[in-house]
Amino acid sequence: MSSQKSIIIIGGGIAGLSAGCYAQMNGYRSRIFEMHNLPGGLCTAWERKGYVFDGCIHYLFGSGEGKPFNSMWQELGVVQGRKFINHEEYQQVTDGERTLIVYADPDRLQAHMTELSPSDAKLVESFCDGVRRFATFDLAAMYKVPRPLMGLMDWLDFGGKNIAFAPALAKWALQSSRDFADKFQDPFLRQAVAQMFSWEEAPVMMGMMLLAFMHLGNAGFPVGASLEFARSLEQRYIELGGEIHYESQVEKILVENGRAAGVRLYNDEVHNADLIISAADGRGTIFDMLEGGYTNRKIHRMYDGHLPTHQMCQVSMGVKRDLSSEPHWVTYLLNEPILLAGEEHHQIGVKHYCFDPSLAPQGKSVIELIVRTNYAYWQRIYGRRVYDTEQSQVSDIILGHLEKWYPGIKEDIEFVDEATPLSYERYTGNWMGATTGWLLTKETIPMMIIGVPRTLPGLKDFFLAGHWVEPGGTVTLAAVSGKNVIQMICEQDNKSFKTSQN
Ligand SMILES: Cc1cc2nc3c(=O)[nH]c(=O)nc-3n(C[C@H](O)[C@H](O)[C@H](O)COP(=O)(O)OP(=O)(O)OC[C@H]3O[C@@H](n4cnc5c(N)ncnc54)[C@H](O)[C@@H]3O)c2cc1C
Repeated sequence: MSSQKSIIIIGGGIAGLSAGCYAQMNGYRSRIFEMHNLPGGLCTAWERKGYVFDGCIHYLFGSGEGKPFNSMWQELGVVQGRKFINHEEYQQVTDGERTLIVYADPDRLQAHMTELSPSDAKLVESFCDGVRRFATFDLAAMYKVPRPLMGLMDWLDFGGKNIAFAPALAKWALQSSRDFADKFQDPFLRQAVAQMFSWEEAPVMMGMMLLAFMHLGNAGFPVGASLEFARSLEQRYIELGGEIHYESQVEKILVENGRAAGVRLYNDEVHNADLIISAADGRGTIFDMLEGGYTNRKIHRMYDGHLPTHQMCQVSMGVKRDLSSEPHWVTYLLNEPILLAGEEHHQIGVKHYCFDPSLAPQGKSVIELIVRTNYAYWQRIYGRRVYDTEQSQVSDIILGHLEKWYPGIKEDIEFVDEATPLSYERYTGNWMGATTGWLLTKETIPMMIIGVPRTLPGLKDFFLAGHWVEPGGTVTLAAVSGKNVIQMICEQDNKSFKTSQN
């Protein structure tokens, strides 16, 4: 009977845990195989010398009660009773003399940016109008029905309900932050606006959506940090009767008569099931675990390396200084570029986490510095002493700058931790250490709208979930992808989809 079917899920990140929870709610018997000894994948944090360094969520879409995506998090049981910090500012961008404060409130942002550059008032107004417009857009509605299940009528219904947003989407979806910044007359804003949403290729629409979510109180930071959040999802999965096997890395997906029939772990254990979901790295699943046997031109093209991904170095520090009076995130524009890991950098982002006192001992602070970097550079030097030297060089150079912005800080540093794209790759298996699957840009936004396939040609009983099927990633869309895959399985089994166990 279909209700007795068993499912194996590869990967205990947010997508795998979400798929597991919905599988249990819908009467399937699921098991997750996770290569690490912890849940969450990229949604993680690590404790060192009394400091908790967060590696993921700054903004959780769906954190606000009754707001878009919140009902999914309620179903997954991770928001009830959890405190979220809602920031009024996304970040600040400064050249040392002038500062752009990226307020989430579009009225405040408009007044502030207009004051910075009255001659750009019209441009600022159209941008802030975009934020106001997107504050009324129900992004979650786009994910109600999994894209592969959407028929013509669903698309017509979706289009009809959202027709009013078409002009805003047409105007902002295919414009990058850099394209937009270049339109400003003010030289400082031309630089600062390009960095406003962390990477220059970020579609302006994505940034507007983020500010709109923040303004609505629907993009909060979960107090206790990302690992706590992932652990509560793991807890929910276990309460629903799911099984999670840690330190169980899947080597191969076993195929019998054209259907995915089981998995073989690196320790040679074989486990069979009626259905297999991979919520692990997309490339590793398709080309390693399945040896590239179930692909087509489109899939090869997706993974040929031409699409954008995002890699970074994160330098985390524990400092014996209270930074709570400082802005929580500042991007410093540099007068002279600095050379880090073989590339010139024109800015450095500095975050502190004092808004969540549980992450550092009293009177002390966690600082994180983020620099975009090139995977190939780190890969070329991996395994040699120069890799460690390079990591400390990155920290040292950045620290030199930090000292200028926070005089005396070097003396206060108690602990430094460095992560490169290879750390992310080793820890989670993500191709090239990518932080969000495909990076959302003008190029990948059509993939986000149309949807990435969740099944493979010629392979039955197999599904893909996770941020490699939701361009732009995020913890929220990873969870949505897990939910969507179970909706697809229920549809295949002619069952109505349930969002609770009753
Ligand atoms: C620094 C940083 C900041 C971010 N900030 C935010 C933010 O503010 N808000 C937000 O929403 N998102 C943010 N993200 C993005 C978000 O973390 C990811 O998009 C999301 O967590 C992806 O979840 P996933 O389950 O699809 O993949 P993953 O987290 O990669 O999970 C995949 C899991 O599969 C396991 N696995 C891989 N291979 C195997 C195998 N062979 N066998 C068994 N297990 C395997 C891995 O160990 C991992 O646990 C951030 C990411 C980073 C790195």
